[in-house]
Amino acid sequence: MSEKFLEIKDLAVTYETDEENVNAVNSISFSLNKGETLGIVGETGAGKTTTALSIMQLLPKEVGKIKNGSIIFNDENLLEKNSHYLRQIRGEKISMIFQDPMTSLNPVLTVGEQIGEALELHNKAKKENINQRVGEIMELVGIPAARKSEYPHQFSGGMKQRVVIAIALACEPELIIADEPTTALDVTIQAQVLDLMDELKNTLNTSMIMITHDLGIVAQTCDKVAIMYAGEIIESGTLEDIFSEGNHHPYTVGLFNSIPKLNDKKTRLEPIDGLMPDPTNLPKGCKFHPRCLHCMKKCKMEEPKVYKKGTKTIRCHLYDN
Ligand code: SF4
Repeated sequence: MSEKFLEIKDLAVTYETDEENVNAVNSISFSLNKGETLGIVGETGAGKTTTALSIMQLLPKEVGKIKNGSIIFNDENLLEKNSHYLRQIRGEKISMIFQDPMTSLNPVLTVGEQIGEALELHNKAKKENINQRVGEIMELVGIPAARKSEYPHQFSGGMKQRVVIAIALACEPELIIADEPTTALDVTIQAQVLDLMDELKNTLNTSMIMITHDLGIVAQTCDKVAIMYAGEIIESGTLEDIFSEGNHHPYTVGLFNSIPKLNDKKTRLEPIDGLMPDPTNLPKGCKFHPRCLHCMKKCKMEEPKVYKKGTKTIRCHLYDN
């Protein structure tokens, strides 16, 4: 449980077009141990999905550029590997689950064929055993094996996402990156899918990066949390660090104030005023300063450093000793 096998260091990613440069990820660092789940939390446009696509090396060709940093996976820097090596890693060692199951599934192939294809592609079962293995994997994610010859449109939303999870698990990856995996599902199905992912992760000792904007999902599934804002990790720590009272980045405080609490008598939620800055024109100094209630003169001029507080890190001038 303590073996570090993924380490991202100073990762910076831009999307470059003729008209503009979008600074999507601005020098982020984090690590993941075997069997752990890291939640990456933030609003739309914070850089969460770009971070995931960078690890998978699936940034849009031509425009997506990794400008700096390293992605060390099992002691190898993925940024130095060729496309053949990366194709092998994808699916076999690292799998990704996307938000909308319909965009991940092929409508003209049966679900059994799609799970079987993943097994065959990565030589995870002998040809004569594929059919049996497909059935086993389907049962593992709670789909009767008898449904292997059905097509994706014959499944409900929750069942489709189970099929996507089955495909992701088929090759027994060491790392699963789940990008908002339950956003397209209704609340009860969401809870079932999250429970299933948690159970499978524990059974198979798979590590996971859970990308979400939902702190409830983080509380339910994660061991560690990184909060992203404008392409930076502004606070990170263990689940307990982030969810307990104490020192927090003003953005983290704002995030928690903007969700309902059972024991709170307030009649209105408190949203964070303002919007995430334009990534083509990020503010000088602290990127959160136009929205921050504690903004000081220094915040508009100097970028805050990352300060360590026990097992937690906070990128904010308020924590400069
Ligand atoms: Fe607010 Fe300044 Fe901290 Fe940024 S550095 S979050 S502006 S107090």
